[in-house]
Amino acid sequence: MQRRSIWLAASLLCALWLGSLGIRPASASVEPVTPPSAAEFQAWLDSFKTTAAARGISAATLDRALAGASYITRVIELDRRQPEFTMTFWQYYEKTISDKRIARGRELLKTHAALLNKVEAQYGVPPRFLVAFWGLESNFGDYTGTFPLIGSLATLAFDPRRSKFFSEQLMAALEIIDRGDIPADVKASWAGAMGNTQFIPSTYRAYAIDFDGDGRRDLWRSLPDVFASSAHFLSKSGWRPDETWGREVRLPKGFDFALSGLDKNLKLKEWQAKGVRRADGRDLPAVDIDAALVLPAGADGPAFLVYGNYKTILVWNRSILYALAVGHLADRLVGKGPLVAKKPSNDKALSRSDMREIQRLLAEKGFDAGGQDGIAGAKTRRAIKGYQAREGLAPDGYPDSRLLDHLRGNGG
Ligand code: CA
Repeated sequence: MQRRSIWLAASLLCALWLGSLGIRPASASVEPVTPPSAAEFQAWLDSFKTTAAARGISAATLDRALAGASYITRVIELDRRQPEFTMTFWQYYEKTISDKRIARGRELLKTHAALLNKVEAQYGVPPRFLVAFWGLESNFGDYTGTFPLIGSLATLAFDPRRSKFFSEQLMAALEIIDRGDIPADVKASWAGAMGNTQFIPSTYRAYAIDFDGDGRRDLWRSLPDVFASSAHFLSKSGWRPDETWGREVRLPKGFDFALSGLDKNLKLKEWQAKGVRRADGRDLPAVDIDAALVLPAGADGPAFLVYGNYKTILVWNRSILYALAVGHLADRLVGKGPLVAKKPSNDKALSRSDMREIQRLLAEKGFDAGGQDGIAGAKTRRAIKGYQAREGLAPDGYPDSRLLDHLRGNGG
């Protein structure tokens, strides 16, 4: 259950985070939303209040927090929005790893060095990663959301589609308010992501830390609490203090792309033996750790060997692009250079309907793409790899227009 909620949390955070960075699709379809009557919503709130009281939340907190809660139609519109295009690795990279963000992150790393070192000493997560998460989640605290936390969560909990998940988030938010961590009228993202770290309430409840010792876990105004909470969450999610996240690598000619994918782990010396090198051509580090090969733009794009900590970043947010951005930004903050791979001139995102067609054609050809949601998740990528291997294509699991042409029977 905990794992499932972490994954759900992660996908939400991804959506929120894109929103917070102003990354919006060129166009998106939105279903019309019919709000409930005030009486209908109030009846639901009253019933929720009874459940929350039975869970031990004080009457004073419930009165204060739920009194002003109303249904927010805009929240449901945002929740139902379906981006028409998925973003390519390069589009994502350019949006998230700007020179401005790197420069500001480097300054903040210096400004807060003493605090960050103290947090690292306790939780084992190096400062560069804590600042990278901070930059990606809220642009170093610039964007922590403008929606009323309780109203947004109550709206999403009332909506039947993910009522169970958001009811639990609403309960967690009320518990956090009840213990005095935050005020009842606090603002968050439209889906209830909170503060500088954009934790959803269940993550906040489980992992937030009062590091400045004032008795409250405040992820809005206390940087000691912000850094320690991130580090605590990462530490509990499996962060390994002595390892980095991974690195960009160079692949040899004739490389077997069937070895790519997060589920294929080899020792670094095995990758070295297969001809894989650091991006600048030097040998891989001679350390005894497992690594997997990630190809975020397919066989022709950049290649990364990633370690256990990359998978821990995926617990925070399951997007492979997000996890690469955190790792790469962390490296840039301590002076490492940009990617060696270069953006191709024909970098183009597939539309959601193209992705649906890929999923439909894969299913027709006997590969389980996990439904037709228009999103290239792990299952879809596995199905693509299976198809590419059968057809004698480079099995990189990457959906692009060439793959679509091939599936349509035009690829020869
Ligand atoms: Ca505190």
